[in-house]
Amino acid sequence: MQQFTSLCYHYIRTKNNQFPRILGNDIDEFIDHIKMLQKKYSIISANDVLNFYYNNQSFKNNKNILITFDDGLSDHFEAAKILHENDIKAMFFVPTCILDEKLPANPMIIHYCIAEFGITNFLGTFYDIIEELKVSNNIDFSINHFNEFNNRWDKISQIKNMFKYKIQYSLSRKILIKIFQKLFLEKYPNGLDIIHLNENKIRDMIKMGHTIGTHTHTHLSIGATKLNSNDFKKEVINPKKILEKRFDLEIFSFSYPFGEKQDCLSSAELLKNTKEYKIAFTVEENKNTKKTSPLLLGRYMPTSKDSAKKLSLKIEKIFNS
Ligand SMILES: [Zn+2]
Repeated sequence: MQQFTSLCYHYIRTKNNQFPRILGNDIDEFIDHIKMLQKKYSIISANDVLNFYYNNQSFKNNKNILITFDDGLSDHFEAAKILHENDIKAMFFVPTCILDEKLPANPMIIHYCIAEFGITNFLGTFYDIIEELKVSNNIDFSINHFNEFNNRWDKISQIKNMFKYKIQYSLSRKILIKIFQKLFLEKYPNGLDIIHLNENKIRDMIKMGHTIGTHTHTHLSIGATKLNSNDFKKEVINPKKILEKRFDLEIFSFSYPFGEKQDCLSSAELLKNTKEYKIAFTVEENKNTKKTSPLLLGRYMPTSKDSAKKLSLKIEKIFNS
């Protein structure tokens, strides 16, 4: 049976990077992944997927892999070069706030500020800001609430949840930008370039043959956030126009931020709101066949614990499901 699965990478960390507390796939491990994938599977491009669903084209082999990267991270430039040297065309999903507002996407503000300044400083700055904005009454998360969580990772996941689902999205964005400015930008004036790709790097990646797609404007959960039509336009439709205009390309793909079921729309819902995209990706661990909706393509997110061998077992499991 003709099928493919897709991998969704995020941080790809080098040995001597400045922020060791940011977790991700180690770059050497990533290179091992690539070697294994090239040996065992056919690596396909975004255009191959487009042709499979819309132009009735078949893949050359039955087991295919599409490699994708979410979040427009600075790490991706090195990954793009490695892939290019290996003759692989990958997909990179970019949140457009990094180009248009020159500000990071929401989750990266949380990752980098906590990695650099710690949870206590992060929350302290957060409480100063909600006091300054006089919105504390609307937020039922007190410092005590977070102190109930002993484990660092539980606390971090509570903080992420709060910004993602509990605080109204435009307020959430406003607070995160202020946290970024007060903490990170204060110490690192080139903070945006530390975290994300910039226009020139993306341009080089396109020249290498990679494909870019959108990942909303500021990185919010499309499924869980009640966006009015203006904000839907700002988060889902305009990012396509921003990338098309800047890079003079047709943009046809989108990946759902967070990507779990509650963060996505069904294909019918997406089509009701926009027909701008031909393919869209989740992080549901599914294989994709002719029967899969091209607007709900599954991906697997390799973790920092996935050696090449473990990754290959995981992929086989997905193909055999
Ligand atoms: Zn993302």
